This record gives sequence, C-alpha cells and structure tokens, in this order.
Amino acid sequence: MSRPFASSADLADKPKTLEVLADGVYALTAEGDPNIGAVEGEDFLVCFEALATPAAARDWLAVLRAHTDKPIRYLVLSHYHAVRTLGASAFGAPVIIAHDRTRALVEERGAQDWESEHARMPRLFKRPETIPGLTRPTLTFSDTLTIDLGGDRGDLDLAYCGRGHTEGDIVAWLPRHRVLFAGDLVETEAALYTGDAFHRDWAAGTLDRVGAFGAETLVGGRGAVAHGRDAVGAAVAQTRDFLEVMIREVRGVRARGGALKDAFAAVHAALAPGYGGWPIFEHCLPFDVSRLWDELDGVERPRIWTAERDRRVWAELQD
Ligand SMILES: [Zn+2]
Repeated sequence: MSRPFASSADLADKPKTLEVLADGVYALTAEGDPNIGAVEGEDFLVCFEALATPAAARDWLAVLRAHTDKPIRYLVLSHYHAVRTLGASAFGAPVIIAHDRTRALVEERGAQDWESEHARMPRLFKRPETIPGLTRPTLTFSDTLTIDLGGDRGDLDLAYCGRGHTEGDIVAWLPRHRVLFAGDLVETEAALYTGDAFHRDWAAGTLDRVGAFGAETLVGGRGAVAHGRDAVGAAVAQTRDFLEVMIREVRGVRARGGALKDAFAAVHAALAPGYGGWPIFEHCLPFDVSRLWDELDGVERPRIWTAERDRRVWAELQD
C-alpha cells in the first residue's frame, strides 16, 4: 500500500496555544505545525515568522491582539521556506528582516519552494489566494543585527549561527529573559526537515553556537516550547542526534556500495524507534535522505525542489 504524498492527507486542524514566556514575550505553538513568536518593544512589536498565508497569519495576530495593541515595526524571518514567509503581508511590518542568503534564496528558488510546500502541506495554506506574491526581506545582514527594544526592555539579538536547516537560518535571542527563538535549527519533538540542509555543518558548529547561548527557554521551529535548561539541552541534543544518525547510516550504506533506496531504508530503520511517532517524520524522510545523499556526493548547494521532483523522489523512496 502506498503512503499518501508528504502531508497531503493530513487535513485536521491542530490546536494552537499562545504562551506568555516573559513580560511581553509570546510564542504560539501548534502541536508540530510551524511555531511563531512576538516580542514587545517599548512602543512597537517584533514578530518572528509569518506562517504560510496572510489568512493564517491573521488568525495568529487576532490571538496576539488580546495581549498587546502595539504596532508591528519588524517582522523577522528565520529562513526562506514558504510556510514561514508567505503570510508576511498580514503583519504590515515596515521592516522585514532576514539573512543575506535568505534574500538570495527567495529570488533563486522561492517560486518553486512555494509550489512544492503547498503540495506537501496543503492544510497550512489557509486561503492561499490571500498570498500576494513572494515575500522579499527589506533589511538583511550576514552575522548579527541588534534591535534596541527601548525603555528598560533590553536588546533583541538576531544572529547567524552557520549553515544548517538552510543556507541562511537566523535565530532571535533575548538576553534579558534568556529566551531563544531558534527557527527550524532546533525542533522540539518534531521530525527534522533537512531537504535543503547542510547536515554536517548543522550537526557540528551550527548547533554548538545555538547551544552556546545558554537559553533557559527555547522556541523551536515545531513542537512545544522547551522550558528550563534541561529541556533546552534535550531539544538541541535530539536535533543533533537525528542528524548524526542520518549521517552515520547514509555513510555506512555508501561505504558498502549501496544505493539511495538502501540509504533511505537504513535511516528509516535507525530513526523510527526513537523518532517515528513525531510530527512529519514520514513526510520528511525521503526528502531528507535524498539531500544528504547529494551532500555526501559533493553536491555543495541543495538542488531545488519542485512539485514534480517531490513526486518523483517520493515515488522512488516512500511508495
Ligand atoms: Zn524550514
């Protein structure tokens, strides 16, 4: 029996939870669907991530507006993926911030990614006709960018930690409250999507730098908020373990002269006992193993996913 493509058969809405992490610091989590956040400045708001459509983003903003009516000045996008960016217009933010490479990736492959992600995860694309087009950042940086929150609220530090989930992921760090918004560089009990990733960089230096913040609260890309140093450490360790198991298994298959399909079977067998029950595990794995296979082949930058290539890889590995 063949599996339904990606998350195309996953159509039940996930309950969403707004958590107040500290005074003026918010996270909206949704049982494995993409998380988003917001931070109050003295007289403005910074939002983190934009969801897949303006209609979906407006639902989140309605929840947020029960807590604050400050105007949104900055929208921070952790990376270029469609389900994180295409809802941006709902925020009406005068400044949209991302990494330099995210700006380039939107131009290079944003259109294909939009089509690909919509077919993979149709449920996240609430009223797709509300998307006005690709989201283009208006302010980008390469290493760090600091937003002064005003009053006695301290700074919000945006930082690039190295290549990981994509070529241009950034995190948002609130030193005063020791809260880290990690984007898809860390997942809390949700499977990793690594189809556009740099597995070896991510599992080593990039996660080292993410861990070095010493966060006491972490909002990952998907899954519940990690509260406390132990839970934060566990989320980072699980993310690293997922990557290291993949790298070990795919390397092993290649050393034995196996093929991509053997690598998929080996990774699936190794990860399923620990991670198989987590959201989007079956959805992600064919794309993940395909990219890692390329990476170990010396393909420096991830090949562009198109709706057509998605179906071909899915048919080859997951059917
Ligand atoms: Zn992503």
